Amino acid sequence: MIARRLLAPSPGWVRHADVVVVGSGIAGVTAALSTHGALPGCNVLLVTKSLLDDGSTRWAQGGIAAALGEGDSPEQHLTDTLAAGAGVCDVDAVRALVTDGPGAVRRLIALGVRFDTNAGGVLELTREGGHLRRRIAHAGGDATGAEVSRALLFALAEAGAGAEEGVGIDVIEHAMSLDVLLAGDGRIAGLTLHVIGEGQQDGVGAVHAPAVVLATGGTGQVFSATTNPPVSTGDGVALALRGGAEAADLEFVQFHPTVLWLGPGARGRQPLISEAVRGEGAFLIDADGRRFMTGRHPLADLAPRDVVAKAIMNVLAETGTDHVYLDGTYLGEATWEHRFPTIRASCLSYGIDPVTQPIPVVPAAHYASGGVKTDLRGRTTVPGLYACGEAARTGVHGANRLASNSLLEGLVFAERIAADLATGLPPRSTPAQDHRTQGLVDPAAIAQIQQLMTDRASVLRSGTGLAIAADELRKIGEQQSREPSLAAWEATNLHLLASALVASATLRTETRGSHWREDYPSASDHWLGHLVVTLDRETAGKPSPVGEARTDTQSRPVHNASAGTGVHPDQAVGDGLSVRFVPAQQHEDDIQPSSPTQRACDSDIPPQADRAAVPHRDSPERSDG
Ligand SMILES: Cc1cc2nc3c(=O)[nH]c(=O)nc-3n(C[C@H](O)[C@H](O)[C@H](O)COP(=O)(O)OP(=O)(O)OC[C@H]3O[C@@H](n4cnc5c(N)ncnc54)[C@H](O)[C@@H]3O)c2cc1C
Repeated sequence: MIARRLLAPSPGWVRHADVVVVGSGIAGVTAALSTHGALPGCNVLLVTKSLLDDGSTRWAQGGIAAALGEGDSPEQHLTDTLAAGAGVCDVDAVRALVTDGPGAVRRLIALGVRFDTNAGGVLELTREGGHLRRRIAHAGGDATGAEVSRALLFALAEAGAGAEEGVGIDVIEHAMSLDVLLAGDGRIAGLTLHVIGEGQQDGVGAVHAPAVVLATGGTGQVFSATTNPPVSTGDGVALALRGGAEAADLEFVQFHPTVLWLGPGARGRQPLISEAVRGEGAFLIDADGRRFMTGRHPLADLAPRDVVAKAIMNVLAETGTDHVYLDGTYLGEATWEHRFPTIRASCLSYGIDPVTQPIPVVPAAHYASGGVKTDLRGRTTVPGLYACGEAARTGVHGANRLASNSLLEGLVFAERIAADLATGLPPRSTPAQDHRTQGLVDPAAIAQIQQLMTDRASVLRSGTGLAIAADELRKIGEQQSREPSLAAWEATNLHLLASALVASATLRTETRGSHWREDYPSASDHWLGHLVVTLDRETAGKPSPVGEARTDTQSRPVHNASAGTGVHPDQAVGDGLSVRFVPAQQHEDDIQPSSPTQRACDSDIPPQADRAAVPHRDSPERSDG
């Protein structure tokens, strides 16, 4: 069964905020700082599951992409992003990303991020796969995320220190968000969370707030091997689905082609060998030393990630091996030390010196291109609920993220959320009584879910494998627990995400971007669009019979009624999960304004609101904060 609400004790404490930001990576901290900057009278509460810098952001190596170099332009960045996205990017979202991008990176520099520069103080820009220009700004050679995180968290601490009581940015660490609180009319009224703290805010509590910004990062932990840290269990996407929001593009998971191979049984977070190493001239070879990317793609070793990951999987199948090699020995020690000190140190810790030895590599789950569906201002389909960063699906990545566009997306769309909030906070509502069915998956199932997803739903997918995965996931859903714990809440979130991902991957009977179906090896024009997932709250635990095309996986594999026909009816895929096909060009049209008075979505950022007061949409009163 798929729960509509996590089984958890009733909130033992309540506090109030104007805006709650969930997550402390580049997206969450930028959202908090920008909201504070635009609305200084506002009370922003930032909650984060573990320590402040425990997300993916600090692990980012290669850098952040923006058209900052001489001769480059947002238009060229747009072209490269659309090419990587394989026909299903939202062009308006990409345009917002590449147009706002250079300014957003300059604001990061103004905030204190020290990007690498040459002796003349000019930014050193590198290239990564899919980029036709050098446009990746980096820091500390290959420690971009650590530097960005350092500067953002320093600014956050300063903003917190200067805050007056009830005004400014408050931070709670070790605070796992569980579920949204909804008002009677379906708008956001706050969220519930579990805090490992002391005093009045220990255990499960509630924050009442009219705006919640989800910035919970990626979903890599759905798979057994990933570059993502342990916190990346996709909590924000699961919570949003349970709250009635739409998620989209979940089948488009990027598998990074070059993750350090640590042996056949390796589990959890694996060290990444950045694409920038190939950008500087390293190349892939098979066990016989043959350069296998040459001739497979015009960009050879710098082809988009899905192309490289698929090529590696082909080579592994052809040669019967379990890894290939990345040869960077020609770069020389000076380049390794100047550009990639962190990666070299990581390799050395496993006994491999990339200066003299090819690095054993294999693909692993790296980036979720899909997530909570938003418009250009970060608004989800639930009024008052926003999402940004890797948790969001803004439409910029399409079927495959272009390298180093994700830090930029986190920055740009977090700023856009702040700009939207500055036009007026949503009205404050009282949480209604919550009748959603509670549930909890046994935490013992986590390893089972991860292995199943790696075996059946990773780089190579097939209808048969996905049907097995769907069936197994249904059985895992029956392994319910009655004991709330962090592990059980994460298991429940992972199970929901895995189920939604498998449902989407099953229905998309084509190969596109990072979604590769062995049984449908070509792209099809019928699938130029998005699979939008919702969790039906009214039919808790039961599939809903709506229309002839609906199918049920409770007792049999998902059947794709629309395969090959060009018709995409709504699909109920069991347990209340519904999947709807939306043609690519319709994306902007089907997002509803989040309140009757909210302005129609357009791509312009509104001017900043009066800094002296916190305006509320639809409400003449200030928040009671
Ligand atoms: C090894 C690696 C290298 C990368 N290199 C690059 C690169 O060079 N360039 C690039 O553009 N991108 C890169 N990426 C991707 C990029 O780092 C991420 O997409 C980006 O940092 C995501 O930022 P975020 O703020 O959305 O999420 P994160 O930085 O992952 O932060 C998520 C936050 O949410 C918190 N959280 C999660 N669940 C909950 C919950 N239930 N309650 C409360 N808090 C919660 C987490 O604790 C964390 O603080 C890389 C990723 C990895 C893993």
